[in-house]
Amino acid sequence: MSALRDVLESGAPSFSFEFFPPKTDAGERVLWDAIRRIEPLAPSFVSVTYGAGGSSRDRTVEVTKRIAAETTLRPVAHLTAVGHSVAELRHIIGQYADAGVRDVLALRGDPPGDPNAPWIAHPEGLGHAHELVSLVRASGAFSVGVAAFPERHPRSPDWESDIRHFVAKCRAGADYALTQMFFDVEDYLRLRDRVVAAGCDTPVIPEIMPATDVRQIRRFAELSNAAFPEDLARRLDAVRDDPAAGHRVGVEYATAMAGRLLAEGAPGLHYITLNRSTATLEIHRNVLESRSAQHVLAAHH
Ligand code: FAD
Repeated sequence: MSALRDVLESGAPSFSFEFFPPKTDAGERVLWDAIRRIEPLAPSFVSVTYGAGGSSRDRTVEVTKRIAAETTLRPVAHLTAVGHSVAELRHIIGQYADAGVRDVLALRGDPPGDPNAPWIAHPEGLGHAHELVSLVRASGAFSVGVAAFPERHPRSPDWESDIRHFVAKCRAGADYALTQMFFDVEDYLRLRDRVVAAGCDTPVIPEIMPATDVRQIRRFAELSNAAFPEDLARRLDAVRDDPAAGHRVGVEYATAMAGRLLAEGAPGLHYITLNRSTATLEIHRNVLESRSAQHVLAAHH
C-alpha cells in the first residue's frame, strides 16, 4: 500500500471518514453497517478516535485492528498522550505494528473531565504532540498525522505560537494534518496561508461535519471551541422538530463547504461520520457529482 503521503501528493483529493469506538453491541452494529457502506467507495483511509480513558481506549485498538484484518480499508488510529507513560504508548504502537496498522494520528489529547483545564503531562509521559510524532516515527514504518486548528488551538495564546508549534510537530515527521471541525471556509484558508507562510508544506486536510441537528451540533461545537455560524443555526432552528428538513439543511451546507474547499485546492476532505453513513454519503456523492460535472464542462471548453 502506498504511503498516505503518496496519495496526497498524487494531486487527486484524498477522501476519508472518521468513526468513534462504540460503547454497546447495538452501537457496534451501527458502526459496522457504516463501515460496510463506506468500504466500496475506496476512501484513502478511515480513522478511529481515541477516548479519554478506560475501556473505550481498548475498543479503539480493537476496532482499528479489526478494520485492518477484515476490510480493504486503511485504518488510521488516533492516539493521545493523556494518562499514558511512554512505555504504555510504545506498547499500543507495538500492538498496531503487529496488527499491520501503519497509520497513527498523533495527538496530545485534553485533560480528562474538562477539555479546557490546564494540561498536565503524565510524569513518565509526553508533554506535546510533537514528542508523540517522534515516538511513533521511531517505532517503525508508520505514516503519521497531526491535528490542526482553523480557529487556533483554544489554549494557544496567539497565532504566532500556535503556528510555530504546529510547524514543529510537522517537522518532527508528520505526513499530513487533519483539522478540527469548523464551519467557515475562510478560517481554513487563513490557517493554510499561515502554515505556508511559515515555510511548511504539510498537507492540511479539512474536516467536514454534517450539521443536521442543531442541539447536537452546538454541543460538539462547544466541546471543540468551533464557532457555529448564526445563519446555519437559524436555518436549523427553524426546522428543529423536523429531522428530515434538518438533514437537508445540514447536507446542503456541508456540500457547499466541501465544494468550495476543494475548489480552493484543499488536499482532500475528512468526513466526521458519528458512525452514521447516511448524511456523509449524501454529501460525498454530491461532491463527486459536482466534480465530475465540472470535469465534463472543462472538457468541453
Ligand atoms: P499539541 O500539538 O501538543 O498542541 C496543544 C497546545 O500546546 C497548543 O496550544 C500548542 O500551540 C501548544 N504547544 C505545542 N507544543 C508546545 C511546546 N513545545 N511548548 C509549549 N506549547 C506547545 N482528542 C482525543 O482525546 N481523541 C481523539 O481521537 C482526538 N482526535 C482528534 C482529531 C483531530 C483531527 C483533531 C483536530 C483533534 C482531535 N482530538 C482528539 C483533540 C486533541 O487531542 C485536542 O485538541 C488537544 O487539545 C490538542 O492536541 P494536539 O495534538 O493538537 O496538541
